[in-house]
Amino acid sequence: MIAVGLLDWRDSRHFDDSGDKPCTQCRTTTPMRSHAGEPVHKVCAEDWNDRNPDAPRQQHEGRDLGTARYHSDPPRKRR
Ligand SMILES: [Zn+2]
Repeated sequence: MIAVGLLDWRDSRHFDDSGDKPCTQCRTTTPMRSHAGEPVHKVCAEDWNDRNPDAPRQQHEGRDLGTARYHSDPPRKRR
């Protein structure tokens, strides 16, 4: 059994009530946000971490997301 690093996204800031956006991993819409405010399912983020144990985040559609691995910190509200 692999020790999977489950994320703790219970903080309400991981839930964006402004609406669903396409998950950057699976393309299904999600209200969930990563620490960087990126729309992604918690399970997708955990799966990405599992598949990329040491890698920094890669570019996504030409944009540098500028994040390391997903983690449990809530996103900062930019308001
Ligand atoms: Zn997803």
